Amino acid sequence: MASSDSQAELDRVRDAIQDCDACGLGRSAIRHVPGEGPAEARIMCLGEAPGAEEDRQGRPFVGPSGQLLTRLLGIAGIDRGNVFITSVVKCHPPGNREPTPAEMAVCMEHTRAQIAVIRPKVICTLGRIAAQALIDKSLSITREHGRARRVDGLLYLPLYHPAAALHQQQLLTILEADMLRLKTILAEELSEPA
Ligand code: URA
Repeated sequence: MASSDSQAELDRVRDAIQDCDACGLGRSAIRHVPGEGPAEARIMCLGEAPGAEEDRQGRPFVGPSGQLLTRLLGIAGIDRGNVFITSVVKCHPPGNREPTPAEMAVCMEHTRAQIAVIRPKVICTLGRIAAQALIDKSLSITREHGRARRVDGLLYLPLYHPAAALHQQQLLTILEADMLRLKTILAEELSEPA
């Protein structure tokens, strides 16, 4: 797909998310948060669900954990503007609760559509919920963070959620090291013949 076609297709997915009322979360949320980033992004980052600040702004990862995500990407020499960032569910769950399996299943259709358009080289799942929703429902983030895994032709890298590392120095150190792995993995993927 030419890049203008991909952008138009990604815009269509965004519009479908903005109009979505399939799981009910959109009714209590202030804004839907489809995600943002270029259609030709090589890296996609996927969190769990928009938080309160994301809900207010309609943009992903703009609160404290988002600021940390931006900094962590920077440590790996990756510009946030070159990454497509979204979450498993696109609307803020009331009271910041975990999204239910049904809400995640419904919203997965949108995430799959985003992945199909962008075709990223690496998909970083942020936190247990995103890793289990996208990679493997029994994945242990404690054991498998930083270990890339290919599923159905897509390369996933499970990472801790930046929110968890905000107040835990030990997790922050791990997340920084895993982000550096991301840079290596991406370089390896880009050197592979397509
Ligand atoms: N956490 C997420 O998973 N997504 C956001 O957009 C913000 C925080």
